[in-house]
Amino acid sequence: MDVRKIVLVVCDGMGDRPVEDFGGKTPLEHANTPNMDLLAREGSTGVVDIIAPGVTPGSDTAHLSLLGYDAREIYTGRGPFEAAGAGLEVRPGDVAFRCNFATLEDGVIIDRRAGRIREGTEELAGVLDGMEIEDVKVLFKAGVEHRAALVLRGEGLSQDITDADPHETGRPVLEVKPLKPGDTKAEKTARILNTFIERSHEMLDNHDVNVARREKGLPPANIILPRGPGMVPHIPRLEDRTGLRAAGVVGVTLIRGICWLTGMTLIEDRRFTGGRDTDMMAKARATVEALETHDFVLVNIKAPDLAGHDGQPREKAEIIERIDEAVGYIYRHMPEDTILAVTADHSTPCGFMEHAGDPVPLVIYGRGHRRDRSQAFGETECSSGGLGRIRGKDLFHILYNMAGRAEKFGA
Ligand code: ZN
Ligand code: ZN
Repeated sequence: MDVRKIVLVVCDGMGDRPVEDFGGKTPLEHANTPNMDLLAREGSTGVVDIIAPGVTPGSDTAHLSLLGYDAREIYTGRGPFEAAGAGLEVRPGDVAFRCNFATLEDGVIIDRRAGRIREGTEELAGVLDGMEIEDVKVLFKAGVEHRAALVLRGEGLSQDITDADPHETGRPVLEVKPLKPGDTKAEKTARILNTFIERSHEMLDNHDVNVARREKGLPPANIILPRGPGMVPHIPRLEDRTGLRAAGVVGVTLIRGICWLTGMTLIEDRRFTGGRDTDMMAKARATVEALETHDFVLVNIKAPDLAGHDGQPREKAEIIERIDEAVGYIYRHMPEDTILAVTADHSTPCGFMEHAGDPVPLVIYGRGHRRDRSQAFGETECSSGGLGRIRGKDLFHILYNMAGRAEKFGA
């Protein structure tokens, strides 16, 4: 059987709504995108309800759906994916948290981000990593700026606890409590987390890094604020589920965590920043290279979502034009029978500045596969495309079928 490779490019938050300054076009429609328009002419388009019609996806649940998983079944929270994406080797049964380095002075939090500390967090994290509290092991790793990840590993833990982070300054750290009184697992987890927070302050307050910060007049990073607990779920590896050797070309921590927890190969490169400054052409080259040894490559480009959250349609359109060049590179350099799909994980309309439940545009190109009448890639054009309106988790089946890999259902 002639099996083919698949590339799925996810332009984070690319879906949008009409922008008045663009004469009622969306940023994608306003942008000059000759390569994606070519795919639309040579392939088929449609729109995707990533989770279900009108449901607003997070980037994590959205990517799980696009990879063919039932996010509602396996998703326990953002913590496990952030922790895995930061490079902690999480295991099912661990409880993972996102954390901030923060500043505590006179018993209250005066800066939730410790002045957006940039240097020294790895040294600070090193002091906390490996700590043991009762029979529980603490894994801790610094992330970008003030961010960090925490994992508690041991028997009888739970994610059903309250937050320690007061989410505003001028208030003390909140005592972590079980959501339901009498839940012994949650009681244990809360007790351990409270101890961890207290110890983090004792161990970090007079650390050399913080002594130096105080001398420079900078707020010390002298306490850890964990939030968003999630029990690490058991997720079947993508390769075990589908037989596809899969790789992720991804910068942003959360989606790296998705790749790691689904057993994909993470293609590492310092130029994949997960920000506006990400090197899109480097991602395109890495994608083509990964196709030599993998059957499926997921590419995530975070930047359009950032412009959407900031309400910047012009910037968003410019970012989309740069993505278009990268898509063009992939199209011209991939093995010629590769199936190439471009979509978004959700809409982040610039006029709304948050994720929305609007369906996202989709184009799929595969040599020898069906075409429809679409002439360009955009929300309006895609809504009358030949793929119609599908759900996120259906996309994977469609790609799988086009790659000649689907098994017959029935005789
Ligand atoms: Zn997203
Ligand atoms: Zn977003």
